Amino acid sequence: MDPKGQKVKLNDGHFIPVLGFGTYAPPEVAKRDALEFTPFAIEVGFRHIDCAHAYQNEEQIGQAIRSKIADGTVKREDIFCTSKLWCTSFRPELVRPALEKSLKSLQLDYVDLYIMHYPLALKPGEELYPKDENGKLIADSVDLCHTWEALEKCKDAGLTKSIGVSNFNHKQLEKILNKPGLKYKPVCNQVECHPYLNQSKLLDFCKSHGIVLVAFGALGSQRIKEWVNQNHTVLLEDPVLCAIAKKNKQTPALVALLYQIQRGVVVLIKSFNKKQIKENIQVFDFELSPEDMKAIDGINRNIRYNEILFGVGHPEYPFSEEY
Ligand code: NAP
Repeated sequence: MDPKGQKVKLNDGHFIPVLGFGTYAPPEVAKRDALEFTPFAIEVGFRHIDCAHAYQNEEQIGQAIRSKIADGTVKREDIFCTSKLWCTSFRPELVRPALEKSLKSLQLDYVDLYIMHYPLALKPGEELYPKDENGKLIADSVDLCHTWEALEKCKDAGLTKSIGVSNFNHKQLEKILNKPGLKYKPVCNQVECHPYLNQSKLLDFCKSHGIVLVAFGALGSQRIKEWVNQNHTVLLEDPVLCAIAKKNKQTPALVALLYQIQRGVVVLIKSFNKKQIKENIQVFDFELSPEDMKAIDGINRNIRYNEILFGVGHPEYPFSEEY
């Protein structure tokens, strides 16, 4: 098998490529850059593309995928495309229309994976972050299990092959897993995960329930000012990571990516830079020794770059729990 096509089996029988191309960028560049760099990522070998309604560039990614199908680089079935249900569409009757909107933008008949972006139901409407007159986020009182049932219906309708969640803590996962009449378990939980936040407890929990952990921010996030505390240490400058990279004649970025793959985590990497996109697909060209893996385990500091500050105070804010 072409190592670039390395995949893991999900609990519903479908397969997910272990390396995925992230597509989030700040709004001022998100559309333009997605259109330029997504086709390039497909050309160099990325087959898993991570999108979301909230990134506001699904239309450009749809165009990119279509262009690579049209020129014969890939077939639809070669691409694993994820989209995410935004929090303002958690009421069950809004779930399918939200997915249909993403499908229309992506120019696809189905996505491979549809996930709840955060466990934070928000007031329905056009605003991504609805706020009251005091600037306070307006939560919506939707039971996450009811949203999940609507996702199950989307899977049954063939609009998505698999369904999962993102940014859920283990109690929120348990709530879905213990739901009376559960038809499908979440196939994945997509969360921030890197050597400074290695999520070992959540990973063990997910593995014990057949749920794949998908890592975002694997290089320490994009450090976007409005989301990330700029005082946090820069992951890719970590001395242990740099020493392991030097020893293996690789970059710290590749070491951080491979660390996830070797511990059974599916890893996303965003790059809108051709040199770095090409570099990132080289992750399959080397191996980390058990000693390297152990040393990287040892640098965990529980640094969460993406604290989801907008959700603090929401009754379902996920990070009040240890994991
Ligand atoms: P990331 O993948 O950790 O990337 C961080 C930065 O690393 C990028 O800005 C990129 O800059 C740079 N980079 C990429 N390759 C590199 C390399 N080889 N060497 C050095 N630097 C490199 O950050 P992320 O965007 O936060 O996470 C990845 C994806 O996960 C997102 O794009 C999105 O699809 C998803 N995500 C999901 C959630 C969620 O709530 N579910 C949250 C955040 C992200 P350049 O572009 O300049 O290369």
